[in-house]
Amino acid sequence: MRYLFLLLAVVCSTVSYSQTHRQPGSSEIKLKIKKLNFLGSVLYVAAHPDDENTRAISYFISDQLAATAYLAMTRGDGGQNLIGPEIRDQLGLIRTQELLAARRIDGGQQFFTRANDFGYSKNWQETLAIWNRDEILSDVVRVYRQFEPDVILTRFPPDARAGHGHHTASAMLAIEAFDKSNDPAIFPDQVKSFGVWQPKRLFVNTGRWWNQTVNEGTPGVVTINVGTYNTLLGKSYSEIAAESRTQHKSQGFGSPGRRGDAPEYFEFTKGEKAQKNIFDGVNTTWLRLKGAEKIPALVDQAVAEFKDEDPSASIGQLLKIRKAISALPTSVWKTRKEAEINQVIQDCLGLYVETTASLFWASPGGKIKTNFEIINRSHAPLTLVQIDSKQLSYDSVVSSVLKMNSPLAFKSERALKEDLTYSDPYWLREPHTQGLFTVKDQSLIGTPENQPAVLFDFTFSLMNEQFQVQCPLVYKWTDPVKGEITRPFEIVPPIFVNLGKPVYLFLDRAQKEVSVVLKSSKENCEGKVELRLPKGWSADPAFFQFKLKKNGEEQQFAFKVLPGKDELTTSIEAVVTMDNKIYDRSLLTIQYDHIPTQTLLPKASSKALRIDLKKEGSVVGYINGAGDDIPSSLRNMGFEVWEMKDEEITPANLKKVDAVVLGIRALNTNERIRHFMPTLLEFTKEGGTLVAQYNNSFGLELDADKFAPYPLTLSRDRVTQEDSEVRIVKPENPLLNYPNKITAKDFDGWVQERGLYFPSKWAPEYEAPLSMNDTGEPARDGSLLVAKYGSGQYVYTSLSFFRELPEGVAGAYKLFANIVSAGKSSKPEKVKIKSKLK
Ligand SMILES: [Zn+2]
Repeated sequence: MRYLFLLLAVVCSTVSYSQTHRQPGSSEIKLKIKKLNFLGSVLYVAAHPDDENTRAISYFISDQLAATAYLAMTRGDGGQNLIGPEIRDQLGLIRTQELLAARRIDGGQQFFTRANDFGYSKNWQETLAIWNRDEILSDVVRVYRQFEPDVILTRFPPDARAGHGHHTASAMLAIEAFDKSNDPAIFPDQVKSFGVWQPKRLFVNTGRWWNQTVNEGTPGVVTINVGTYNTLLGKSYSEIAAESRTQHKSQGFGSPGRRGDAPEYFEFTKGEKAQKNIFDGVNTTWLRLKGAEKIPALVDQAVAEFKDEDPSASIGQLLKIRKAISALPTSVWKTRKEAEINQVIQDCLGLYVETTASLFWASPGGKIKTNFEIINRSHAPLTLVQIDSKQLSYDSVVSSVLKMNSPLAFKSERALKEDLTYSDPYWLREPHTQGLFTVKDQSLIGTPENQPAVLFDFTFSLMNEQFQVQCPLVYKWTDPVKGEITRPFEIVPPIFVNLGKPVYLFLDRAQKEVSVVLKSSKENCEGKVELRLPKGWSADPAFFQFKLKKNGEEQQFAFKVLPGKDELTTSIEAVVTMDNKIYDRSLLTIQYDHIPTQTLLPKASSKALRIDLKKEGSVVGYINGAGDDIPSSLRNMGFEVWEMKDEEITPANLKKVDAVVLGIRALNTNERIRHFMPTLLEFTKEGGTLVAQYNNSFGLELDADKFAPYPLTLSRDRVTQEDSEVRIVKPENPLLNYPNKITAKDFDGWVQERGLYFPSKWAPEYEAPLSMNDTGEPARDGSLLVAKYGSGQYVYTSLSFFRELPEGVAGAYKLFANIVSAGKSSKPEKVKIKSKLK
């Protein structure tokens, strides 16, 4: 029976495996049949998820009917997050999924390089050095050779006008790859798999942002009205774009749908010149393939004879087209069109195929109960003949006639193979450098996400032809409010090892409790758990024996850890030994409504700081902003934290706290905060400490008196080099002396950046004890401002504590402790300390 499976498969969901297939209506199917006759392709290139011009992409997909993809250099790891506390790798994962959600809406394909978004970069030189130019160029060339685009569009100009260094670099690499992808001597290993490819031309998708005088008459510019309305979809491309753009929720990119004409300008940059259309001179018909001469007429006939009320009447004609395509020699277009026509046939059948597991994960070798549901919603004679799954060693021959609208439902129980890899995102499996992810399996480079953990191949017999549908295993449940929800089925370790905290602070030599939670993903887990500690540190007991009988059971163990005497930044790891194997992966789940559930399996390792950190005050109020982990960092430092809700911010309640910290961008995200500001400033005046973390000035009318006691003006100044020199310009300032002495050494080991959106002007009441800048820039002095107000202290800091504290940066903890303790340093203790310093 195996020879049957040489046939190409239809994937249930064409873009992402993680959602169940959405059955299109007849007008959408008709559009897909029309698309079979267009053989032109566009690759859009930019730097981050959300850089892409979603309107132009939607237009090329559904108006020009071109095969269209977006290549994002990075996954947006270094950005900010408006919807939760996830930053860096976790944010990159969220933004990858937001981009895939956008592509599900517009129907485009998605590629990435291995570049890590290391945060804001002021120039391309820095970007390409940190990314590793050759590696990322090879990824871009690989995507060109794999996708074979006729036209390349870059979002950004290849120069300083692009602003962010990642933006400039994305255009430069797109241009460089244009010259290199057709040269077999360049990255010859790729040539073996994909051959070489010469795109026809490259445009910069310019606009008024970069070129204020651009218009339809500008020489070298192709203008396209991408604001047209698609009657078959019932939407304009601007409306589709608004929907897809709104998926970038972590970036706050909710967008309104616009209607009406919308010119886009494409500035010719490389290749053969074009006059009117980006595809000028490109053969976008079947005639670009040898032996395909008959296909256009067959497709035209299928379009002409299409019956809205019975799409399945087209199946005979579609099978004819499919036969003609399968007779063609191997090519990118053959593969692409085979996938398209198989999907159209499935759509015309109204064929619904679903495989759901009884659990959302299992470990290799684990047993899986699967529910199958298959239903043919057409008159077409369809028989299920075979079901296969490699991962479940499933290989059964059946013969089930699928009568119209009569579901075939059955169950099975099989064991997963023992040698399957875990389902954590492939680019996060190995440690990565600042600019480049490590991907050992070359075949994964460029792909947006893992292949589904378990796939089923269903083979049907349809009018004497074999027809195959591929379907990922998912877990499905019904939420009383949200309705039916699915999440991907995943392969995970048999036991998860989670340490209690991401950062442990050992403030003195006293022993401290370090807890480990074990969670099973199978029955009968038995073994021992222990900690791996630095030299000179010890745990009591040395290990615990454990026994978890049920699947999903959890057990917590508390070790008493005795640190060494010297200050040290180190790590604590937890490992389980079970059945003579070592397990050391923790479990981290990311859940938002707009993306599929994501599971990460990072190594069970926490930062440990042996640090002589002192603090003043005991209770800190915290008012949430865009989301940061500052409350847990404060608790780690020994403060009691009151996460104050709006209605709790009252003069009486504020009497109970020593300091109040505002979450990052609280002024941008908490609309009501302006109403609390007078109360908070009054609290400050009466002796409290108020700490505002960074905000940005966009869309915010920051009348200085609303959020600070004395005027200060925000700017977009930032210091992105995390190792830039920090100059202590006011060494006597209490923030640098009490209760912890801050020296230049405390700015070692910072991550990603020093800070962002520094104030650029401030009233003379403020003192600015620190100065810093990126290479070649003027000094930026607004990172930390402190002013006495009444008998209290007001601090405005744009330093990135929200990044440094969760990373366990010792100096950042000491400085933040001083900031929160600021109100106490002006009391008598300060005098004592000062005299001591002399
Ligand atoms: Zn960007």
